[in-house]
Amino acid sequence: MAWSSKKVCVVGAGVSGLVSARELRREGHDVTVMEQSGGVGGQWLYDPRTDASDPLGVAGAHSSVYASLRLNTPRESMGFSDYPFVYPAGNDDDGAGGDARRYPGHAEFLRYIRRFCDAFGLMDAVRLNTKVLHVAPSAPRGHGDGSVTRWTVRCSSRHGDCDGEAVTTEETTFDAVVVAVGQFTQPRLPVINGMDKWSRRQLHSHSYRVPDSFQDEAVVVVGCHASGVDIALELRAVARDVHVSVKSVDDGVAIERLCEDGQVTFADGSRVVADSIVYCTGYGYSFPFLDTGGLVTVDDGSRVGPLYEHTFPPALAPSLSFVGVPKRVVVPRFYETQARWVAEVLSGRRALPSSEEMMRAAEGYHHPAREMMVAGVPKHLAHDIFDDYDYCDEFGEKHCGFPRLERWKKELRWSSIARQRGEGEGEGEDSESFRDVYRDSDLVREGLQAQGWPWPAGSHQHK
Ligand SMILES: Cc1cc2nc3c(=O)[nH]c(=O)nc-3n(C[C@H](O)[C@H](O)[C@H](O)COP(=O)(O)OP(=O)(O)OC[C@H]3O[C@@H](n4cnc5c(N)ncnc54)[C@H](O)[C@@H]3O)c2cc1C
Repeated sequence: MAWSSKKVCVVGAGVSGLVSARELRREGHDVTVMEQSGGVGGQWLYDPRTDASDPLGVAGAHSSVYASLRLNTPRESMGFSDYPFVYPAGNDDDGAGGDARRYPGHAEFLRYIRRFCDAFGLMDAVRLNTKVLHVAPSAPRGHGDGSVTRWTVRCSSRHGDCDGEAVTTEETTFDAVVVAVGQFTQPRLPVINGMDKWSRRQLHSHSYRVPDSFQDEAVVVVGCHASGVDIALELRAVARDVHVSVKSVDDGVAIERLCEDGQVTFADGSRVVADSIVYCTGYGYSFPFLDTGGLVTVDDGSRVGPLYEHTFPPALAPSLSFVGVPKRVVVPRFYETQARWVAEVLSGRRALPSSEEMMRAAEGYHHPAREMMVAGVPKHLAHDIFDDYDYCDEFGEKHCGFPRLERWKKELRWSSIARQRGEGEGEGEDSESFRDVYRDSDLVREGLQAQGWPWPAGSHQHK
């Protein structure tokens, strides 16, 4: 196929959208990134706003990051393949001088994303305060062979600040659209008897920012994945009583019933009286602007499909693609791989299988770890890669000749996950302190040394 440059619209300027822009430009495409917020960074653009009238909903903010959030992935593994997330020269834990911890606060990662934008001159491709309202093929499609030739993108843009007057515009000349809107904004909630009648406070972690308003309260935190653990630990310092409901929405929430008078009854029959409930029960996919006539759907907020290799909808490929759908991968690196693949397919450097083959593959996506799940595959695991970094390597090699992740970085991540789960091997290595207490293996130490990484400051390598 002859090489050609395309006019591409990227929706979203988080790490997925930004790295898509970089890869598309490198491949010679003409790129416009539409971003609804007033800045780049996506989740990492901390937004203190919450909406008390909709504490279980989206609450007007995209980011679900809370004020105290620190990365739960080691920074040495958090960079783009050719632009490491280096330690800053200064260190004041979260101030302008930089945060020189291996697991820094969220502001440090935002600084890194902004530097990435500057280093690759991406800001001139980004339209801020521009929300995509509608994306649809401009002309009738061909015969399910991906022959959409143009896409129409309707946006609402605000000039000046986000309170400025909104102007709606429509562009009909995009050859392709890359959807990169993230996956951690639309709250997923459990179904609990009495939830609708509960008269006290209940909110989703999407709307949690700071613990102050929970002072002296009795709080039930539902879900014990990363955010659940962080928030429960933080609340423990201010609340009168924090009860963590260890089951999450994934396996049937352990709360049996909520009563109007504040009583929470658990599945084992125990009861507490609570002032607030915080649901740390995850997120669903949502693409409200996407109009594909049913060719791409989101099943139960969990499964986007059909998608070939989590990226291309067979009937609309390659002109429509998704970057950033897979979970539990090396971020942002895996999304960089997807972006490179999309860029190379759009230019004609690489070919996709026929839409029939892609459809068969999309329907039959199986992952070994997923197959181990008995009693059917839960939908919410449809895009879960289970931190299988060898799979990530194979994906990158196969689709765009992407370099493999060094073994020491994989080990660094796996040991981090083990400590987070409370499976650390050393004293003090647990889900509470995993960010500060760790012991690197010889392989990791050698890797750090060989690549000139400094010894992490502000943390403790125990003996
Ligand atoms: C609380 C929390 C903690 C996390 N901690 C870690 C961590 O420690 N390590 C890690 O690797 N990952 C972590 N993550 C995952 C994190 O989301 C990813 O690392 C990464 O930021 C995802 O990037 P993205 O670009 O795919 O999505 P996002 O960062 O969500 O960016 C999507 C962008 O699309 C924009 N957008 C959405 N809809 C529209 C529209 N209609 N029009 C225009 N623009 C739109 C949004 O405004 C946003 O800027 C965490 C996530 C959360 C929520």
